[in-house]
Amino acid sequence: MSDLSLAAAAPDCADDGVWLACIECGEQLAPFDEPTYRCPDCGGLLEARYEQYPTFEEFSGRGVWRYDAALPFDHGVSLPEGDTPLHEVPRLEADVGVRSLRVKHEGMNPTGSFKDRGMTVGVRVAEELGVSRLACASTGNTSAALAAYGGRAGLETLVLLPAGKVAAGKVAQAALHGARILEVDGNFDACLDIVSELADRGEAYLLNSLNPFRLEGQKTIGFEILETFRDEYGRFPDRIVLPVGNAGNTAALYKAFRELVRAGALAEDEVPMLTGVQAAGAAPMVEAIEEGYEDTERWEDVETRATAIRIGNPVNAPKALPGIRATGGTAVAVADDEITDAQRALAEEGVGVEPASAASVAGLRKLREEGVVDDSEDVVCLTTGHLLKDPDAAAAAGAEPEPVANDTEAILDHLSD
Ligand SMILES: *Cc1c(COP(=O)(O)O)cnc(C)c1O
Ligand SMILES: [Zn+2]
Repeated sequence: MSDLSLAAAAPDCADDGVWLACIECGEQLAPFDEPTYRCPDCGGLLEARYEQYPTFEEFSGRGVWRYDAALPFDHGVSLPEGDTPLHEVPRLEADVGVRSLRVKHEGMNPTGSFKDRGMTVGVRVAEELGVSRLACASTGNTSAALAAYGGRAGLETLVLLPAGKVAAGKVAQAALHGARILEVDGNFDACLDIVSELADRGEAYLLNSLNPFRLEGQKTIGFEILETFRDEYGRFPDRIVLPVGNAGNTAALYKAFRELVRAGALAEDEVPMLTGVQAAGAAPMVEAIEEGYEDTERWEDVETRATAIRIGNPVNAPKALPGIRATGGTAVAVADDEITDAQRALAEEGVGVEPASAASVAGLRKLREEGVVDDSEDVVCLTTGHLLKDPDAAAAAGAEPEPVANDTEAILDHLSD
């Protein structure tokens, strides 16, 4: 049973009030002595811990580094990231039928996904450790962010991608930002197994969301949502709905809430219900929630149009499942066609997202129809990546271009048909 309480006093191994703790056995580790991704004693997931957790009053500035009081450093390699819009979507809000619906569009980050928030902190830690090569396995967006932030820091970057299963925009980004791209004949989970081994052998510093510092950057999504929502509505949202792949964001948001509760800045009953959405063809988290498992069971064969969440072995499940349960949230699976419908509905309101991102809205719709989500709720849907990440999916979901003659009269005729 994982222990996610933040109560312990700083141990001797802490560096400037920061340390790593194993969520399974409680082992405490020095944070920046050497690269560490899992507990050396039991293999459990690690979490960054702090001597002090800040309240909202201690945040100033913009973007991810506004929250430096809750991060291991006060600056990092920045492009800059965060400070993303919390869009109003009035037609969708009325259609879904909730008290309020806002869309936190993480596609507006520098490389077009929330992964940038994790990388600005992760690459800063890599500099602290003095490593020279960064690596990740990726369904696409992590590789784009790693390539950009690693390049910015002047470090070598290596990415492992499942061959033929990464959206075009993401491969293009990783290539142009200078990553060495290895296409593996296997799925994302196989890529992560290999890159984890490379990291364990000291070949590269791993910047997947298994890396606890990535999640430190990503928890700022939670701080931003709560601050913006409170400023506009005078209250916190009841529910946050998000797509789930490796469950890093789910874990990171839960950590943001735990820290604010610990600091006395948020009451237990003000914590939003964390609600995860997966594609029906890759839904081990939904299975774990429905079956009451403490960890997910690996799905060997996964398939979905939402390639960013085509993951069968969510590494952060032991952090994320308790978050969904403790906040009174849930998890739901949606069909690819429901994802595409939601992608169109968002696009009609001017919000352009890639398929995985639209899963949040598709999931909300479904839960609303099932009566799990109440019409009195204030809901925020997280959209994780930009429309242009997957131009093929966008073109397929959108209208067909109409060929016309190079002639005004012919075009007027065509338009009046
Ligand atoms: C990485 C990614 C996800 C999955 O996020 P997790 O934190 O791994 O659950 C979802 N959507 C997009 C667009 C992503 O790039
Ligand atoms: Zn341990």
